[in-house]
Amino acid sequence: MAETLTTKLLKTHQAGGSLTPGEDVQLRMDQVLLEDATGTMACLQFETLGLDRVRVPFAIQYVDHNVLQIDSKNQDDHHYLQSVCAHYGLIYSPPGNGISHYLHLERFAHPGQLLVGADSHTTMAGAIGMLAIGAGGLDVALCLSGQPFNVPAPRVIGVELRGKLSPWVQAKDIVLEILRRRSVRGGVGSIFEFFGEGVATLNVTQRGTICNMIMETGATTGVFPSDEQTRAWMSAQHRASQWLPLAADSGASYDEVEVIDLSSLEPLIAKPSSPDKVVPVREVAGLAVGQVCVGSSVNSGYEDLALVGAVLHEKVVNPHLVMTVTPGSRQIEDRLIRSGTYLDLVQAGARMLEPVCGPCAGFGQAPGSGVVSVRTFNRNFPGRSGTDHDQVYLASPATAVATALRGVITDPRDLGTEPPLPPAPAPDVSVDDKHFLYPLAPAEAAQVKVFHGPNILPPPPQTPLTQQLVGRVLIVVGDDISTGDLAPEGVAIFDLYSNVKAMAFFVFRRLDPQFAARAREWGGGFIVGGQNYGQGSSREHAVLAPKFLGVLAVIAKSFARIHRRNLIAQGLVPLTFANEADYDRVRLGDQWEFVELHGVLERGEGECRARIAGSGEELRLRTSFTPWERQVLLAGGLLAYTRASEKV
Ligand code: SF4
Repeated sequence: MAETLTTKLLKTHQAGGSLTPGEDVQLRMDQVLLEDATGTMACLQFETLGLDRVRVPFAIQYVDHNVLQIDSKNQDDHHYLQSVCAHYGLIYSPPGNGISHYLHLERFAHPGQLLVGADSHTTMAGAIGMLAIGAGGLDVALCLSGQPFNVPAPRVIGVELRGKLSPWVQAKDIVLEILRRRSVRGGVGSIFEFFGEGVATLNVTQRGTICNMIMETGATTGVFPSDEQTRAWMSAQHRASQWLPLAADSGASYDEVEVIDLSSLEPLIAKPSSPDKVVPVREVAGLAVGQVCVGSSVNSGYEDLALVGAVLHEKVVNPHLVMTVTPGSRQIEDRLIRSGTYLDLVQAGARMLEPVCGPCAGFGQAPGSGVVSVRTFNRNFPGRSGTDHDQVYLASPATAVATALRGVITDPRDLGTEPPLPPAPAPDVSVDDKHFLYPLAPAEAAQVKVFHGPNILPPPPQTPLTQQLVGRVLIVVGDDISTGDLAPEGVAIFDLYSNVKAMAFFVFRRLDPQFAARAREWGGGFIVGGQNYGQGSSREHAVLAPKFLGVLAVIAKSFARIHRRNLIAQGLVPLTFANEADYDRVRLGDQWEFVELHGVLERGEGECRARIAGSGEELRLRTSFTPWERQVLLAGGLLAYTRASEKV
């Protein structure tokens, strides 16, 4: 039977479970990726397993999110990560080497393999025909120990690309079009697989833009075939021998098909404050802008920035705004210098930043109060920029540079003919791996002492689920709460990724500054949310910090995939309303009792009840868990379950 590329990749890595959509499948991972924001906690959890070395064929720790090092804590974290890598056998990529996803695409992503990463945009590596999935730190720590990765088997949405992009229309506009059609919830439980004649017109970095930002639909990942474009990319990266052709069989059928005619697309932009609030740029053209930021893992490739440089050649950025440009990696920075683009950008007045996440993760360049910021990034959830009530628009590099020139949001087609890019230096002269630190031989590695600085605290303990859950409703929040609402980005918490106790103070701080104090005063309890609770990043701090405050369970209309798994991995029960209208009956401060939850999980039943003290009322709640998830919850979390079942 004709198979999709997704099915082929899943089948060749299936270690157990089922490929029926929604059921758990266990996948053997070839590669594991960590970054510093989530990596410290993942490594701390890995250390508790007591192994002497990672047990996965390839593992890498990037330091790209927070490299500010404005006091000792941040550099202590990096020191910790470097020593963990040396001791346990991971590659270490130091600050300044590049953004994890871009570097991975350049140097390590491998067609036909599977990658799991403690970062939601790990999906970017799907650009070269690998299945790349983001996950929470604990899931990833267990993959480091050689265990298979558990994930709900996905549906496969085929995206047929037809035609060719017009001048000034970019890959970002393709993924914005998908978000416009399907919203931030429209990809949940699915993998987007691209096929059709339009695929060959997109190079690997354009595919990377799409696979990176496809995550904003809530998708498990996205994947492109491995073809001649992939071969050209890998040859330029001196990795031609790792290329292999991969595609869906002809006649393969998808669970659903979406058709996009590339030639009919126009420049698009996502309005504040959600990546799916997408409209044509011309609808918001003319709005005054105070900041333009080009970069982030979704749009910091050489061609992206070369176009920006070509537009700005012998021109200057509008004096009423500030423009920043971030290359995705040292290799890209090197090429920009060799091609003359770097000079064009500097002379135009752009502020050149080092190749790290920087403003995309809220580390610097927070816009001023009321300032409209146009960014080529992938997320504009409220406050992610580091500014409360921010006004962040997401667009392509072409739209961003047109806006930077004019000072108002501008459809790039209004600039006339798209300029040619400067002659590109061959990438192979810029390829240079000397900054990676490679694993030591086991005997030498064993001598390396892991550095635990004063800011590195052990992960919270996991204890078995109690027979009764009793507590108060600590907060009632609306739809699309992001992990940034739970564990915010930005400099205020930039050095607390290894310090859950300190981070707990910031939970829901932007929505309800009293939350942390109230949770402590009331002795813990429950969070109640709307649809798509926990969208956004994979950071498990969005679970660990509420757990530290005494949160026992989260009840929502629906959950984002990674966050739901993170709740389970840390022993917090994610429940959904049997009747969504019951959400309106919930009142802050109500005392709830779950007397039967433990038994319901043991018996595998589909519903439990919460009694509302003093009212005689009850709420019916869904307990839709796979058998494995139930075992993990009963054990009190994935670490406790793993230890009890002697999996490592
Ligand atoms: Fe870094 Fe932003 Fe990409 Fe996340 S989305 S990896 S913060 S550049």
